[in-house]
Amino acid sequence: MSVELKKPTLKDYKGDQPTWCPGCGHFSVMAGLQRALVNLGLHPHEVIIVSGIGCSSKLPEYTRAYGFHTIHGRALPVAQGAKLAAPEMHVIVTGGDGDGYGIGAGHFVHAVRRNMDITYLVMDNSIYGLTKGQTSPTSPHNFVSKTTVKGNKEYPMDGLSIALANGATFVAQAFSGDVKRMTEIIEAAIKHKGFSLVNVLSPCVTYNKVNTYDFYREHLVDVPEPLPTREEAIRVVKEHGGHVHGILYVEKRPDFQTLLGIDWKMRDIAAGPMDEATIREIEA
Ligand code: SF4
Ligand code: MG
Repeated sequence: MSVELKKPTLKDYKGDQPTWCPGCGHFSVMAGLQRALVNLGLHPHEVIIVSGIGCSSKLPEYTRAYGFHTIHGRALPVAQGAKLAAPEMHVIVTGGDGDGYGIGAGHFVHAVRRNMDITYLVMDNSIYGLTKGQTSPTSPHNFVSKTTVKGNKEYPMDGLSIALANGATFVAQAFSGDVKRMTEIIEAAIKHKGFSLVNVLSPCVTYNKVNTYDFYREHLVDVPEPLPTREEAIRVVKEHGGHVHGILYVEKRPDFQTLLGIDWKMRDIAAGPMDEATIREIEA
């Protein structure tokens, strides 16, 4: 006899009280993620949230689901292991720009090209917030911080283009100042069958006085629909200096576990498993 579960609610996902600074963009990212999970009808016991180290990586403690707060830059390998071991679970990875694009950059590229069915939310505030305000891999050129007192002589890393160039099948950029759109984007990312990257511009109100909510409201260019090719998506990202907002590119391609032949019948997902005929058609 199967037990009928009641529909999940936001209350089901409420975890510990966040210790983020008032106004931090991460509050909205967490709200958007929880709302997306509820909208998809997923219960906390069907979700694993894996994080690295940083302010954003505290998210699994504040969201009631299975969670694993790992070590700096290593969230993606742990998440992929979890997904291989429990393919029926929905695996979400959360972390910051320092964690994902700095120490974790090598793992990022390989996770992208492996195309495992997980969702990666990079909560990008262009600063190391937890350690009190150092220049990060996505800090702008000439950015002044306690580690670049005369201005950042490096140029920011472009995670969107790296993902696009390495075969990512879902690439988006959201903004924590637009929760409705962000929620829609996260929902689409979770539904996507394959590796989905959502770089969320999520201002650090305490240590980054450049990449603020007002800055993004002024500079972000809307991308209303996914672009037809990854080359075009890279071109648009570059044209606007990375200040784009929306789902940039989506490609339907068998994910890693489908190619391994793992039994997807265990899963009950909104997107549904990809059938054999579709896989053969795509691979032909
Ligand atoms: Fe958020 Fe910055 Fe405060 Fe960390 S230091 S909680 S990123 S506002
Ligand atoms: Mg950061």
